Amino acid sequence: MSTIFKQIIDREIPAEIVYEDDYCLAFKDINPQAPVHILVIPKKEIASVAHAKDEDKEILGHLMVKSAEIARTFGIEESGYRLVTNVNNDAGQSVYHIHFHLLGGRKMNWPPG
Ligand code: AMP
Repeated sequence: MSTIFKQIIDREIPAEIVYEDDYCLAFKDINPQAPVHILVIPKKEIASVAHAKDEDKEILGHLMVKSAEIARTFGIEESGYRLVTNVNNDAGQSVYHIHFHLLGGRKMNWPPG
């Protein structure tokens, strides 16, 4: 069964898309946890980084480079931001399609909860 993010990629459900290319899509999180909260996902269906294979190295690197570009676009490069991916239950992963949360626009706590 396809995840909700695959449905966003396929335009079956709407999202506020902020960036797209052949390999990835970025859109605003529906339940933002910071003034800037964007999800950056590969178009390839990979459940989590725990499921990534050697052949996925390039796409994962691409996601990080594009996340940094998006952060720049949203004006949070200098102030700072957090790029985080949750894996499985203890981390609170709820959608099993790799996504980087790009969070910024406020001071972040460390360690995270
Ligand atoms: P995680 O808990 O790390 O798997 O993150 C999943 C994220 O997807 C959460 O922050 C949700 O708010 C977000 N989310 C779920 N459904 C949608 C949607 N339809 N559009 C945008 N963001 C969504």
